[in-house]
Amino acid sequence: MSRYWSDIVHRLTPYVPGEQPVVAHPVKLNTNENPYPPSPRVLEAIRQELGDAGESLRRYPDPTALKLREAVAAHHGIRAEQVFAGNGSDEVLALTFQALLKHDKPLLFPDITYSFYPTYARLFEVDYRTIALDDSFAINVDDYTAPNGGVLFPNPNAPTGRPLPLAEIERLVARNADSVVVIDEAYVDFGAESAIALIDRYPNLLVVQTTSKSRSLAGMRVGFAFGNPALIDALNRVKDSFNSYPLDRLAQAAATAAYEDDAWFRDSCAKVIASRERLAAGLTALGFEVVPSAANLLFARHEGYDAATLVLRLKGKEIFVRHFKAPRIDQHLRISVGTDAECDILLNALRDIFSAYVG
Ligand SMILES: *Cc1c(COP(=O)(O)O)cnc(C)c1O
Repeated sequence: MSRYWSDIVHRLTPYVPGEQPVVAHPVKLNTNENPYPPSPRVLEAIRQELGDAGESLRRYPDPTALKLREAVAAHHGIRAEQVFAGNGSDEVLALTFQALLKHDKPLLFPDITYSFYPTYARLFEVDYRTIALDDSFAINVDDYTAPNGGVLFPNPNAPTGRPLPLAEIERLVARNADSVVVIDEAYVDFGAESAIALIDRYPNLLVVQTTSKSRSLAGMRVGFAFGNPALIDALNRVKDSFNSYPLDRLAQAAATAAYEDDAWFRDSCAKVIASRERLAAGLTALGFEVVPSAANLLFARHEGYDAATLVLRLKGKEIFVRHFKAPRIDQHLRISVGTDAECDILLNALRDIFSAYVG
């Protein structure tokens, strides 16, 4: 605390990201990064962008990331004017709060969801109401009928991994024509259906995606929004009032190359999906209840063991998983899907911990 702080700083509750451990070889299953590297074409594109002496770095990057947006638009069969690019989808979401979700009526989002949403709401002074997930952690779109200044949730949801069918999202978007529905598709490539298919028909739908998970580029910070050009225009107006160059040259080149290597992308998603099913079976065999997941993470609880204790004992073995001290989910672990080898290390460690467990 300091007397130099702005008023708002006193009132913030900053988001706390998963730990980035400093040990040499952690089994890192706590921030939903991809266990596989990006396409080799990404490295090649970065080298090419740099040139021999890094001379390109003298110049500002393209403020509109046009080449990248064209590659992403081509991938999705849409137009570049329907694509916004930002510095990670967290930044895209932050701009969305200011541009599209701040109104007289409250923003609606689930009680159990990405914990950055309430943080943004407080930072940007957006009034919000949470809607409880049902007992199986499913979103019921019929619960989102109150007059609102926007609706926001991830599909699949975070931190549960549970997907919602596209027909349900369409029903919500169609019924909610007076405000913007934002679907955060950070995990969609691991088994859910993208709502990008609906943006031509619904001017109130904004879909947000990231290269951080399914394209192995968390370190590059590249995210997108897809929607009607009027929504994209709103995001650009806020962006150009804040930071004209959110994406650096290397990030633009890297992400463009990632979208140009579809085979690599599909292969790495397929491997993660296969490992997820294998890990779910392993956890279930150990007595965990596992929420059905279409993401690169599993949300699981064990009746016999306290979640916070398990996290600490795993950490003692340099295995990192995520735990949220929040109502309804404080007995769950959120486990990112690693390689099969990493998942086996986790399962073996849990077996050891259980056999030696004194509460
Ligand atoms: C990881 C994640 C993000 C943030 O992704 P970045 O593009 O790395 O900022 C956004 N939403 C959800 C639900 C996520 O899990």
